Amino acid sequence: MLEIQNYINGQLQPALLGQNLPNYEPATGKVYSTLPDSGSIDVEVAVAAAKEAFPIWSAMPVAQRAAILNKVAELMEQRLPELAQAESRDQGKPVALATRMDIPRAVDNFRFFASAIQHAASEAHSTDGTAINFTLRQPLGVVACISPWNLPLYLFTWKIAPALAAGNTVVAKPSEITPMTAFLLSGLCIEAGMPPGVLNILHGLGANIGNSLNTHPDVQAITFTGGTLTGATIARQAAPLFKKLSLELGGKNPTIIFADADYELALSTAVRSAFTNQGEICLCGSRILIERSLYDRFRDDFVARVAALKVGDPQHDENDLGAIASEQHFNKVMSYIALAQEEGGRILTGGTAVQPEGRCAEGWFIRPTVIEGLSNSCRTNQEEIFGPVVTLIPFDTEAEALHLANDTAYGLAAGLWTSHVGRAHRLSAKLKFGIVWVNCWLLRDLRTPFGGAKASGVGREGGWEALKFFTEATNVCIKY
Ligand code: NAD
Repeated sequence: MLEIQNYINGQLQPALLGQNLPNYEPATGKVYSTLPDSGSIDVEVAVAAAKEAFPIWSAMPVAQRAAILNKVAELMEQRLPELAQAESRDQGKPVALATRMDIPRAVDNFRFFASAIQHAASEAHSTDGTAINFTLRQPLGVVACISPWNLPLYLFTWKIAPALAAGNTVVAKPSEITPMTAFLLSGLCIEAGMPPGVLNILHGLGANIGNSLNTHPDVQAITFTGGTLTGATIARQAAPLFKKLSLELGGKNPTIIFADADYELALSTAVRSAFTNQGEICLCGSRILIERSLYDRFRDDFVARVAALKVGDPQHDENDLGAIASEQHFNKVMSYIALAQEEGGRILTGGTAVQPEGRCAEGWFIRPTVIEGLSNSCRTNQEEIFGPVVTLIPFDTEAEALHLANDTAYGLAAGLWTSHVGRAHRLSAKLKFGIVWVNCWLLRDLRTPFGGAKASGVGREGGWEALKFFTEATNVCIKY
């Protein structure tokens, strides 16, 4: 059986205490590889390697650093089919989705930040003709990058690429549920000639690695994407030590559809934004708010489209949804479907597990599920389910739509469908979300700030925001 290994100081190696964890293929429910069950001793070695590599990496001319990052991007692109297969097998998503989204976007992350760092400028201010102030931006040192299981390589590289581009060295921890593509990336970094210790990848459980990584005195910053509760734990540990923190957390995103929207585009995108990646994208719209005059027509068409989606073996191109990433998560999503019914929700389509025939008979599959008849305040509409489950809620006025959309602890992303330009501007300014998509979804420009408001996180990633996060600004004031 394939043994995933840690990548420390340029070498692939097992956990120092020798323990392994099972790695499951969600589509079959079977173990298909192992991964190191790393602990604090591995954290110590990885942080020491990163600390030793920092002076060399941070002093390397920017063009040389960028060339190594571009080489990694090139190798990822060359291995796209292999990486997409691995991502699908590890996570449960359709291979086709990994091929067109996850892996190309991971490549883009490396390319974008390799280029951005070569164009980064810092500010200068002439002060009343008496002094010049300028801002020196320097890398922080060793930084920790912790990522979740839903978009494994895409989000892993989203953190690593800017950290490395800015001249930091990294100890990265992918999710224990989806370690495979991070492991394959280790091999590509070796092949690309990345100096030992610049990037270190530790596999294992958050509970075993997290504490020592979050509190390590040589870790200057932590960038974390994952659940809100985990984010709170990391903040509790790291904030009193004054580490820089970027927390990208959960969401409960509204998709708001007005009667004046482009109907066909709103309908097809609402289906996509609800169920892409089995609904396991933090940016998926899980509460669909529909203007009452449109409600019945939209509901009937939406349900018909969703009922036609195919669920099954992620290896087969005809399937729209693959498997749920883990058995634990499968049980969580199913428990929310039961809760929705207890709360008085009517299931319009889905609501059940699926057992495909053949090799996937033991896999963790759920039919895309649409529910109506629930108030916005119930648990189903307030708590993050993070699976193929959406609710439909009618509204009467713009003010009510705004109230319902904002009436959540979360604030990651909102979708807004209207052809009224004034309304688009008015609502975008009042929606308490880090991202507002108007008449589109998941359209990303890597230069823009990315992140959530309220319980969806603290800090912004992406573009210059990321390069700012991964550097310390020193203001130098020189008097004439
Ligand atoms: P999670 O919080 O369980 O785990 C995320 C990562 O943190 C994993 O690598 C895990 O091993 C690690 N971890 C766990 N405990 C830790 C600790 N004490 N210290 C340090 N690391 C620890 O999240 P998940 O279940 O993997 O991911 C799903 C969540 O991620 C959802 O809530 C989803 O909304 C969120 N998410 C947010 C974004 C965003 O950009 N805001 C993007 C993707 C996913």
